[in-house]
Amino acid sequence: MNIVSKEDNRDPYDSFLMVPGPTVVDPRVRNVMSNNQMGHLSEEFTDDFNKLLVLSKQLFGTDTGSPFIITGSGTIAMEATVLSLLEQNNKGLILDTGYFAQRFGQMLDCYSIDSNTLSFNFGSHADPDVLKTELKKNKYDAVFITHVDTSSTVMNNIYELVKVVKDNNSLAIVDSVCGVGGCELNFDKLGADVVLTTSQKAIGSVPGAGLMMLSQNAIELLENRKSIIPSYYLNLKKWKAHMDNPKTYVATPAIQVMVALKTALEMIMEEGLENRWNRHKNVANAIHAGIESLGLDFVAEENYRAYTVTGFHVPSGTSIQTQSELKSRFNVEVANGFGEMKNNALRVGHMANIGPNEVGCFLTGLETILSEYDDTIKKGTVINAISQILK
Ligand code: PMP
Repeated sequence: MNIVSKEDNRDPYDSFLMVPGPTVVDPRVRNVMSNNQMGHLSEEFTDDFNKLLVLSKQLFGTDTGSPFIITGSGTIAMEATVLSLLEQNNKGLILDTGYFAQRFGQMLDCYSIDSNTLSFNFGSHADPDVLKTELKKNKYDAVFITHVDTSSTVMNNIYELVKVVKDNNSLAIVDSVCGVGGCELNFDKLGADVVLTTSQKAIGSVPGAGLMMLSQNAIELLENRKSIIPSYYLNLKKWKAHMDNPKTYVATPAIQVMVALKTALEMIMEEGLENRWNRHKNVANAIHAGIESLGLDFVAEENYRAYTVTGFHVPSGTSIQTQSELKSRFNVEVANGFGEMKNNALRVGHMANIGPNEVGCFLTGLETILSEYDDTIKKGTVINAISQILK
């Protein structure tokens, strides 16, 4: 059964891209990328960039934060933060809830900055009480928190974690690459020093921009640090001058990427942040209900399953085949389980423009494929499960 008509010459954008980022990009966002090339210091582009900075403050929910948007991806935002805010004599603590948290640890190692890791079982959330105990015992200059770890598909309670960090006077650095735009986050209420994200996930734009929001505390630290920042491109001190006045030159930004991002943020504001968060929660609830109705287990523990990505187990050894059939028969592209779960789990992204059509197609496709392995799975199960949820 093909739910989506498939023609050999179809536009690849017709497929339902449900990997956990990049995600489906709205034509309005894609189209602005084909406008005439602008100069990087032109009135037109610097005006657009200034508007983008204002929109990014609205996106993060801040009046007091300082936005930085640089060409690159989420990793560049992570690395620019590490290099610009930490010095060699500092010590960081990583809350390890998956692969992307560990990436911060690798970065600290690269720059010979001391660190310690608090590890939580894969699929479990970072427990604020465990963090509290550690911070009472040892002093850290910065604590690295992942909002949604795309590998374990866990959504941490960043409000509780950041509060513990700030009560203990450390810097709170939050990777919300898979959160901002899809999961509730208000920078001023959160009180973190840095929240960072990227353009191609829940924001729904094309890859190519790393976004960081810095608190006034982080800006003071940046301005008063003693050692030089050992990087040209990842030096937020240099970029600060550009964010204050986009007519100053540091390096040529990916102009089309920035214009696309501005358009995506305009669309988010038209939708309304609260509406968007609720929409993501609703879509996630439907995905979770559908997966549960098929009797499959989740990778992330209950109450900490993300609103933007879901990991779930399939019968051992069937994941690669299921992933490939979802693509070839149903035109739905999902990601495999992370690391050791490659052969027995899948991850489905449901962020930005993913809505009822994509959810329905993914779940019914999954049901059809799995029912061919397992005759206890009955056709029609998922539709029953999600029909009361998706509106
Ligand atoms: N952090 C998280 C939570 C992520 O999901 C990702 C990307 N999957 C990154 C960081 C790195 O972002 P990028 O691939 O855009 O460099």
